[in-house]
Formats: sequence, structure tokens, C-alpha cells
Amino acid sequence: MSRHLADLLAREPAGFGIGQVPAARVPSATTRLVCGFCSTGCGLDVHLKDGRAVGLTPSASHVVNRGSACPKGWEALTPLAAPDRATTPLLRNARGKLVPVGWSEALEVFTTRFKASQAAHGAESAAFLSTGQIPTEEMALLGALAKFGMGMRHGDGNTRQCMASAVVAYKEAFGFDAPPYTYGDFEQSDVIVLVGSNLCVAHPIMWERITRNPNDPEIVVIDPRRTETAEAATLHLAPRPKSDLSLLYGVARNLIERGAVDRDFVHDHTSGFREFAEFVGAFTPERVSADTGLAAGQVDRLAALIADGTAVSFWWTMGVNQSHQGVRTAQALIDLALMTGNIGRPGTGANSITGQCNAMGSRLFSNTTSLLGGHDFADEGHRGKVAGILGIDATLIPDGPSLAYDRIIEGISTGQIRSLWVVATNGAHSWINHSDMKELLGRLDFLVVQDMYGTTETAQLADLVLPAAGWGEKDGTFINSERRLGLVQRVSPAPGQALADFFIFKAVADAWGCGHLFERWSDPEAVFEILQELSAGQPCDITGVGGYEHVATGAVQWPYATGAAGAEPTGRVPAERRLFADGRFFTPDQRARFLFEAPVAPGERPGGAYPLALLTGRGSASQWHTETRTSKSATLRALAPEGLWVDIHPADAAARHLAAGDEVVVQTRRGAVRARAQVTTGVGEGNVYLPMHHPQVNALTFPAFDPLSRQPSYKHCAAQVRAAEASDP
Ligand code: SF4
Repeated sequence: MSRHLADLLAREPAGFGIGQVPAARVPSATTRLVCGFCSTGCGLDVHLKDGRAVGLTPSASHVVNRGSACPKGWEALTPLAAPDRATTPLLRNARGKLVPVGWSEALEVFTTRFKASQAAHGAESAAFLSTGQIPTEEMALLGALAKFGMGMRHGDGNTRQCMASAVVAYKEAFGFDAPPYTYGDFEQSDVIVLVGSNLCVAHPIMWERITRNPNDPEIVVIDPRRTETAEAATLHLAPRPKSDLSLLYGVARNLIERGAVDRDFVHDHTSGFREFAEFVGAFTPERVSADTGLAAGQVDRLAALIADGTAVSFWWTMGVNQSHQGVRTAQALIDLALMTGNIGRPGTGANSITGQCNAMGSRLFSNTTSLLGGHDFADEGHRGKVAGILGIDATLIPDGPSLAYDRIIEGISTGQIRSLWVVATNGAHSWINHSDMKELLGRLDFLVVQDMYGTTETAQLADLVLPAAGWGEKDGTFINSERRLGLVQRVSPAPGQALADFFIFKAVADAWGCGHLFERWSDPEAVFEILQELSAGQPCDITGVGGYEHVATGAVQWPYATGAAGAEPTGRVPAERRLFADGRFFTPDQRARFLFEAPVAPGERPGGAYPLALLTGRGSASQWHTETRTSKSATLRALAPEGLWVDIHPADAAARHLAAGDEVVVQTRRGAVRARAQVTTGVGEGNVYLPMHHPQVNALTFPAFDPLSRQPSYKHCAAQVRAAEASDP
């Protein structure tokens, strides 16, 4: 056992997990945590008895949620008490069973087998897959340990599955991954355009912010489905799946013809408009109607609303990002905001809504695609700066980015990747076209899964499971969709031998023999100070933040630089701030770029034996991703539909002699799943819809990827639906 781990275990109060709450921050009777599910970042007041959580209520005074929470937030503590928590390390024995072992043995096996695989196949044959669900400090330590201490070059996050297209879109257009908005913009717009976003269900508290808008805004929803959000919109456009890029270019052409271009803004603050205007000239009403299935009048109405609006905001989420042209579609929305001058002012913006609670922390500090602090691995100066701050040799830092998630999976199939460390993600359920995942992961020399539960589909395939503390059992910070920092704290004991991920990484570093590189990384708050140093001079500069106590106020959005106007933690800084009010962007010439590309058809189109388009997405507000946590709550289970339902249009149901409630099989070229038919006009004729939470759904999806972001295109493939037969599995 390492000295560090022995010390931690020795000072462990009975049942209260490693990572003792520092005495200065022992929670009082009520303490505030930012929610650990989605990226909204709601404040939750956790109520304590004898220092332990006994319940929670949404924070009435928190700037984000103002006393509201969705069902997941209300039930945030319940998954901690689930009976299938991993309470000891689990090691697969000679008979193929996962059996409990102590931490000393687990760490010895971890280091011995990873090192043996690296010795045989090269240090870069080891990789990690991480998450947007753990605090920034933990992500940063994992990324630094794996790449600077263990010799890995490749490690990615599950944020690749939800946000990568927005990241690339922003980097190329604005010069940095910088969502420009603040939630106050929901309340200050007079035209709100939501694209591929079912906000009512996926981000209910953001939707609530829209309901507080006093301007009686026009709400436009662009979505092939008539979602709950579309039902509440003043205008719903339902284009053919994956034709939204053509639609947005047609809207741009229409705006130019109307003379609705903010010429001064375009001239002073952008580049590339002339080429963009020439390009969209080809998107005539006839062409756009043919591509999208929308009437020319519908496109004209949307353009008129944008042209007449005084504060127009454009919002998007997974319907855009999870696309074979997600980057360009996001950039088309950025183009619309730029050409109409709808950015940097209250109620405006080209605004990507993030998915996971700490996706933004991952984007900036996980050391995966970006070097710590939004730096560039390929930039020698950046490597030198980071090495200097960390006190390490710059040659330890890889000189290029990691393989993306899909390339890591592909690398397993080719033998390039031979050992894998999976942290708080469940790819055997969530990865696109995962039907061969079990076989692929079985090829690895060594698979480690670090998770709250040993029962996830991925953990069940592991050679070694490391038991991790969950939200509420450890300390750290998250960054939400609007760039706001939030604090999570330990208010509940981790079960058994489960440890905060942070202290697992520390123990691994000691066992590996590189603990000396991380002596300064003593606890999460010490790491937060390191992250502040790493952010210095970057667009995400947080050097002016006054530590965890300041973060806990909920009043910190990046940038928050030392010495910046109003940057002292005095309460005088506005609680909501947006970027680009001065019209200066993060590109070298400080101009935002118009970016565009010809639309191309999806890789797999309906036809022949598979005549329907299968769409996937969120099922209900009480479900979260692979349901690793939400399935543990009886309340959340009761709020979600029981079993798997497929939405099918009445005409498609009639053609197959199907009635509502019939048991059917949804089949694609890759697999099939049983479901019950929900006959509804909520999907268009020719489309069917499955919620993503069932473990078999992603055995069906088609593995297409955006070529720029490598984000999977979950939301479109060819399918057939038929009545189920007794012989169907
Ligand atoms: Fe948590 Fe998101 Fe629900 Fe807010 S909206 S309570 S952050 S899951």
C-alpha cells in the first residue's frame, strides 16, 4: 500500500470516505451544492443532520434556478444509497468473476498490468475515456496523471458524444471555445430560435427562464419532431431530419434579400461575409423547399421574425451537435447571429446549450483535446507555459492532441490501443453502434472501469473495477452552460472503501511512481489554485476568483481575471455576464469568422427494406443518459414511461397494421429492439423516434461522425418497424 493511501485510510472517519471535508468548510445545517446532472447548474440546498445530508430543496436565492429544480435535481441524493454501489475494488479472477479485493492489491494489479501492456506495445497503447460528470479538479488530475505521469497520449471524454461540434464551431468562428451567453438572455430576447433542442424536457429550468421573459417573445422551434417545446412555440418548423443546414442557409439568403444585414457590425467585427453571401445565394426558396420539405412561406416567416426582432437569440443542442455536419450547422447559426448583429447585446447570441453538469470543465481543463486551460498541445510555447506552472519537464507533455473517442475505439480494433481506463462513463451502453463493443473491449490486455457502480454495462466487462464516490460525496467545481462556476461538496459518506476519484488518482500516481509530479495537487482546492494559474491570460481566465468560497456564491462566470474591472469578490460584479459586448473576438484579428460548407446527405438514408428515419433523443425529464443513476430512484422511474416506446406516425402505423400499444420490433441494419408503438403525429410521416436510455437503442444507430469534430451522429439512420412475433428476442 502506498504511503499516501495508507495515510488517507488511517485518518478515515468511520464510513465517511477518503477526502475529509476540510475543517474550515464542514457544512453547516444547510449547505449549497450545484446539481450533478445536467449543464444548467441549478443550486441545491442540502440539509444536514449531524453533518450528513438528509434532504434537499432547490436554492431560492441561486441566480440560475431561483427556487426550482427538475425531478432529477430533487432526487439527486437518492442514487448515493443504491444497493449496487461499488464498495470495494473488484478484480476478475481466473474463473471470470469479479471478486472483491483490497485497495493495495487493486493498485498493484493496476500498475503491473498497465505497465506490462505498455512495455509490450508502447506507452501510447494505453488510453483513457473520461466524463463530463466529475469535478474539474478531478478531470485535470486524471488528464495530467495519464499524460504527464503514465505516458499516455490518448484520452478523450464522453463530452465528445454531446459537445464536440459546438467546441469546434466556436473555436473556428470565435477563436476560442466560448459560449457567449448568460441565462438572462432567455428573458431579454424578443425572438428565441431553438434548433434541435427540446428544452422543456432536456433543460427544464432553462425553459422556465423563457417563461419569465416579459417581452412575450416569439419562440421558434426547428425540430423534425413536434416536441413538448415545439408545442409551446409560436412557430414550429419541422424540416426533414438532417436538412437543417440547407434551411439555415436559405434563411441567410432571405435575410440578405430583405436587407436585414447589420452592415456596420459585419464590417467592423467579422470576416468572410462577402464569400458567405455569395455561397448562400444558391439556396433559393425552391431548393430549400426541396431539401427540407418546408413550404417557402414557412422559411420566409422565420426570416421575417429574425429581421424584425430587436434582440434575437439562437440556441442549439444535441439535434445540431449530433450530426454528420454538426460543426457547419452550428456555424450556420453563428453566421445568422453575426450577419444580423445579434451577439454581445442582451437577449442575443449564438448559444450552444451544453449537456452534462461539467462538460465545460471538461472542454477547458480535462487535458484531452485541449492542453490544460484551453491551451494547444501542438504549441511549443503553450507546452512550456504549462510545464513551467506545473514544475515539470516540458518533454513530458505530448506535442499533439489525443485520438478522438471513435478513433480510440477503432484503435482497439486495430491493436493500436491495448489497455484502457474508463472513468465515470458507460460506453457499452451509450456509444454509437455499440453492438460489437463487448467483443472489442474483450480484446484489450487490460480494462479498468472506475465508477460509482459495479453494475454498469461497461463495468461488467472490466478486468478491474475501482469504486468511486459520487456527487455529494466529494469536493470540487463544475462549470455550467453559461460559463458559471459552481461548487460541489461532500455532504454524505461514500460507501465502504469507495474513494473520491481525486484520491483514486492520487493513489494511482503514488503506486505508479510518479506521485512526486503531483505533490502540489494535494486536494481539490489546491488544484483549483493551479487551474487558476493555468488559465492566466486565456479567454477563460479565472485568476480573479477568490477560491471556493467565492465560487459557492454562484456569482462567478468566466472570464474572471485578476485586476479586471469589477473582478474582485466584492459582490459588485454582475451576476450575469455575456461575452463580446465590445465586438472583439478571440481570433488573431479579433474578428468573428463566417464559415460555411455545402450540405451533404447523411451516410445512411431511408429506403428499400429500411424505409423509415430513426431519430433518437431524451425520453423524459426524469431520465439521464444511460440511467446509471436515475434508475436508482423509484420516484424518477415512476415519472418515466415504463418500458421502451417508439413514436410512429398514424400513416406509417396503418401501413403496417399497427395500433397504439402494439408490441413491435424496430430494426436497422445493425440490430433490433422490441418496443411498444406510440401512434402519434408528434413525429412526421416516415420518421420514428426512440428514447436513448434503453441499452439496446445504440446497438441500432449508424456510426457516422462529423468529420471536423468526430462527434457521433446519433440522430439519424434507416430503420423498419414491424409487429413483433413470438420468436423475436
Ligand atoms: Fe439538475 Fe439540470 Fe434538473 Fe437543474 S435542470 S435540477 S441542473 S438536472
